[in-house]
Amino acid sequence: MKKAKKIVTMILVITMLAGLAACSSKTESKTENPETEKMSDTMKKIKKSGKIVVGTEASFPPLEFHKEIDGKDTITGFDIFVAEEIAKDLGVELEIKDMSFDGLLAALVAGNVDFVAAGMAATEERRQSVDFSIRYYDTLQTILARDDNKDEFPADSDMKGKLIGVQKGSTQSEIMSRMYPKAKTVEIAKNADIILQLQSGKIDGALLDDPIAQLYAIANPGLTATELIFKNDPEYDVGSSIAVSKEAPDVLESIDKTLQRIMDDGTYDKLLEKADSMLDADMIDMLVDE
Ligand code: GLN
Repeated sequence: MKKAKKIVTMILVITMLAGLAACSSKTESKTENPETEKMSDTMKKIKKSGKIVVGTEASFPPLEFHKEIDGKDTITGFDIFVAEEIAKDLGVELEIKDMSFDGLLAALVAGNVDFVAAGMAATEERRQSVDFSIRYYDTLQTILARDDNKDEFPADSDMKGKLIGVQKGSTQSEIMSRMYPKAKTVEIAKNADIILQLQSGKIDGALLDDPIAQLYAIANPGLTATELIFKNDPEYDVGSSIAVSKEAPDVLESIDKTLQRIMDDGTYDKLLEKADSMLDADMIDMLVDE
């Protein structure tokens, strides 16, 4: 009987201790800032480290490109300026990671970058794995060719048998198979390498977002943006948006707010002009020569 009482007392003590432990852990979490508690892990990491990491593929002028500034190779362009505004609104520094286009979304899902700004279209397929901001940039599609074969690409061409370079993992790859099934699509990792292959005659043309095609044509005398310029069909005409992890709705909300702010207060146009003013032929040549 005595023994039984002892056991009951022991159980009571253990239960009380466990209760106390639970209480103290509750008090601990109560002392944590309620704001922080609601944050996504990505937002917590951004705030704690004081920096936000953007992933991009920097051979896509005027949105992202390399330029020598004060003797230093720098990644700049419209997307980078927008990313700086995003960082500024969050009160943190911006870090840029340059990688191949087809690796960007995997890097985002793995948490190696906090958002992707790469002139990326918010397609349904990509929406399966990540979330997208409001659309902030629109483009047409253009076939870039050489001066010696540009006439082979009239506006109504079906590009039968032509070897057309596209950036691997880009919407251009899908556009080619959907709209130009008679052409042969060649997937190449970097836009800059597409240009090199076009110059050396390995491919006949390249499908690029329009401002990019026009800029490469200006910068490289032997290349021409052809008459084959088109708008995506409505189902596919999704412009460019910023990609964010599905686990970070608060980061997405902050990015959307920044985009809306810069569109409303005129900053957007100024940043676009600033990006254009940083382009010069030498710089794009350097890009291609790399
Ligand atoms: N807009 C195209 C896409 O989303 C290409 C983007 C790019 O090459 N940076 O796939």
